[in-house]
Amino acid sequence: MSQNIEELDAIREGVRALCAQFGAAYWRKVDEEKGFPQAFVEALTAAGWLAAMIPTKYGGSGLGLTEASVILEEVNRCGGNSGTVHGQMYNMFTLLRHGSEAQKRAFLPRIAAGELRLQSMAVTEPTTGTDTTKLKTTAVKKSDRYVINGQKVWISRIQHSDLMILLARTTPLSEVQRKSEGMSIFLVDLHQAMSNGMTVRPIANMVNHETNELFFDNLELPEDSLIGEEGKGFRYILDGLNAERTLIAAECIGDGRWFIEKASQYARDRVVFGRPIGQNQGVQFPIAEAYIEVEAADLMRWRACQEYDAGINAGASANMAKYLAAKASWEAANACLQTHGGFGFACEYDVERKFRETRLYQVAPISTNLILSYVAEHLLELPRSF
Ligand SMILES: Cc1cc2nc3c(=O)[nH]c(=O)nc-3n(C[C@H](O)[C@H](O)[C@H](O)COP(=O)(O)OP(=O)(O)OC[C@H]3O[C@@H](n4cnc5c(N)ncnc54)[C@H](O)[C@@H]3O)c2cc1C
Repeated sequence: MSQNIEELDAIREGVRALCAQFGAAYWRKVDEEKGFPQAFVEALTAAGWLAAMIPTKYGGSGLGLTEASVILEEVNRCGGNSGTVHGQMYNMFTLLRHGSEAQKRAFLPRIAAGELRLQSMAVTEPTTGTDTTKLKTTAVKKSDRYVINGQKVWISRIQHSDLMILLARTTPLSEVQRKSEGMSIFLVDLHQAMSNGMTVRPIANMVNHETNELFFDNLELPEDSLIGEEGKGFRYILDGLNAERTLIAAECIGDGRWFIEKASQYARDRVVFGRPIGQNQGVQFPIAEAYIEVEAADLMRWRACQEYDAGINAGASANMAKYLAAKASWEAANACLQTHGGFGFACEYDVERKFRETRLYQVAPISTNLILSYVAEHLLELPRSF
């Protein structure tokens, strides 16, 4: 990291300056109203941060996963919620690595200019969950179109996006040699889809996260919606998921640092029994422990970023970074809430909001158990359990 630490610091400063316009009161109000931070997303787009990874020849800044991760980390560290915008970062890597030149020319300049958003990715299904290769949504080729039927669940930011990457089966599971074969990914124009066979049903949830059920009833997509080669979509999605996991790790590190700073400040200021509560080791130690764990997780996050940007398979590092960072941010959240005593539950302190937001990352985009299972099977060569 040492060679570009100054560039990363400049990114941090730029994002912080923007985030300063959207302080705690802004995010609290958005959360209370279960609204969408439209003004924040527009400002982030206008400043070019959401086009950071788009190559310069298509109008972006041509930066890598390392820089993208710093942008999202800083949003969370400033008290905001990157979950409202992170889709564009990781979906971008899928389009950049596997999209055709024609797709890139058609969409990237418009995304870079802020005219289009690529914020959604549809993988999860209600009946198959984490067992992705059993997904039931099908894409059947009929002359120059693919016809989509099936259902997805928990698909985020649909109502605030123009484009979505969709994973569907193009060859039945019974006809492929390996279960990971026979799936394909498509770039879906959401506005066209909503009036032509795709129905969206919002899901009320614990965090203020815009997420939805999707129903496909003979949705027709032009054949040039296919990204890359037919049947190889699962491999492409996994590559994008490694970017996603690394970015989520960075967001958790941002959360963890926010909790630690907030807890430390409160522990210095709050006086009980005639002294600051932070003078008691029972209050200090959980915060110190959280600090150590966040810093350790950060090291694995940098390793994942470096591997990804170098084009090396980052699967192991990305999974481990996400595991460590999500755990560390959750421990930091717990320590912060406990340090605040009763006030931790008061919305005006923002701790309970961030506490809910960071809890999500033990489950999504991949649950902790599935990371442990990946490490056991792929790194430790233990027998497959499923
Ligand atoms: C707010 C939110 C936003 C989301 N956004 C998106 C999105 O934009 N796009 C998208 O595609 N998905 C999205 N998801 C879905 C998310 O990726 C899944 O919820 C997650 O991967 C877990 O899958 P599941 O809910 O189907 O759980 P399941 O697969 O049903 O698993 C339930 C529990 O059982 C455990 N489990 C299952 N099998 C095993 C096993 N073999 N060994 C040990 N433990 C096991 C899991 O770890 C988990 O804790 C979102 C989810 C949420 C909550």
